[in-house]
Amino acid sequence: MSDGAGADLSADTVRAEVAQWIENNWNPDMPLGRWRELLADSGWACPTWPRQWCGRSLSGALGRVVAEELKRAVVPGSPEGVGMMLVAPVLLEHGSDELKQRFIRRTVTGEITWCQLFSEPGAGSDLAGLQSRATQDGDSWLLTGQKVWSTGAATADFGLLLARTNADVPKHQGITAFVLPMRQPGVQVRPLRQMNGHSSFNEVFFDAARIPAGHVIGEPGGGWLVARTTLAHERRLAAFPPPPRAPGGRAWREAVAERTAAAEPHKWYPQRAGRPDLAIPQAQALGRSREPVVRQEIARLIELAWSARWMADRAAAARIAGQRPGAEGSLGKLASSRIARQAARVHALIAGAAGMLAGPEALLGGTIAEIGVSVPAISIAGGTDEIQRTIIAERILGLPREPDVSAGVPFREVRAG
Ligand SMILES: Cc1cc2nc3c(=O)[nH]c(=O)nc-3n(C[C@H](O)[C@H](O)[C@H](O)COP(=O)(O)OP(=O)(O)OC[C@H]3O[C@@H](n4cnc5c(N)ncnc54)[C@H](O)[C@@H]3O)c2cc1C
Repeated sequence: MSDGAGADLSADTVRAEVAQWIENNWNPDMPLGRWRELLADSGWACPTWPRQWCGRSLSGALGRVVAEELKRAVVPGSPEGVGMMLVAPVLLEHGSDELKQRFIRRTVTGEITWCQLFSEPGAGSDLAGLQSRATQDGDSWLLTGQKVWSTGAATADFGLLLARTNADVPKHQGITAFVLPMRQPGVQVRPLRQMNGHSSFNEVFFDAARIPAGHVIGEPGGGWLVARTTLAHERRLAAFPPPPRAPGGRAWREAVAERTAAAEPHKWYPQRAGRPDLAIPQAQALGRSREPVVRQEIARLIELAWSARWMADRAAAARIAGQRPGAEGSLGKLASSRIARQAARVHALIAGAAGMLAGPEALLGGTIAEIGVSVPAISIAGGTDEIQRTIIAERILGLPREPDVSAGVPFREVRAG
């Protein structure tokens, strides 16, 4: 995202400049929104982004220096979540200046929140088969159809949406990406309950929902390109860390409240990842750590976790060197699934039948049971394991492409869903 400007700056110069800026501007008693405005306007909020969009066009390495300095000074940064992780990078790459003007700064300051409206009941892996339809109505668009699995849609202000705008061309060519205002009569959000008891996802129904003129991201019919950019960012699986242990002051109080609310749909995500960190302590606590089979399965888990960590480090280094996220994200995504499944297997082996008991009286307050019913999600979210394998086969190993019976056929004539 950096345009290379600032390449002649040294890490020490940047570090000193950030420290001085914080010294001049930070006041723990100011409202969080005001602090975030200062951060955004100074460019320290997103230092690798372009100058006019809350950044400083710094390299990835210098961006890391800025992040370290903000952390060292214990000041809140920009908000976490879909807006910063997916939507803003996509708008920076494909959005018009008007869209950037309208949405980037408000996302960086946390004034607005987002959800991702891609998957449909008949279009998950086959995302390009989506059937929600947007038709032009004067200057604006009218949207009809349904999405599902939409994390955080119940509280989001805007959605990053894919909809079909032309059924007379092959399926990848007739999709358009939009910014959808969520709070309007034509949008109905219904929460879903998962088998682990949480309620992160929603069904979202559109009945003549209105998309304002100018809310198209990229070109009409160019939505597949936007989708690919989004999915490449998503497969990096940015962690959602727990809320910080906050020092006093209004800004931090508000940051922690915001963080806790934003993390609500994700609070079971550590269990989704299998909690490998609990394997050895549990084996010790339950007196199983000397058993050869238990030790062997734990060793397998550690072996997977370490090699995945090195792979993630390599991907992070590539990003810092300015490379765009690509097919290597699929390797990391697949590795996370294997680690989570092996961790769940280890927990079941150690805990036995007691690992199935839920509730506060159960093992680790029910955490072991929650791991068992949360781990399957990691093999589905952001593209299933099978789909990651296909991407690796085609784009990394160079194997022949999967046959596609819909290639070149107008979407109207394809059996979709
Ligand atoms: C925790 C979580 C959060 C999510 N958040 C969001 C969100 O915020 N927004 C959003 O839009 N979506 C979200 N999703 C949806 C997610 O992207 C889809 O569930 C996923 O893409 C799979 O689609 P599907 O569920 O329709 O399964 P299907 O595509 O119906 O797949 C069913 C099975 O068939 C296999 N399969 C399908 N096609 C092939 C093929 N070509 N080759 C081999 N096997 C195949 C799959 O691997 C899978 O095992 C989320 C899902 C989860 C679990």
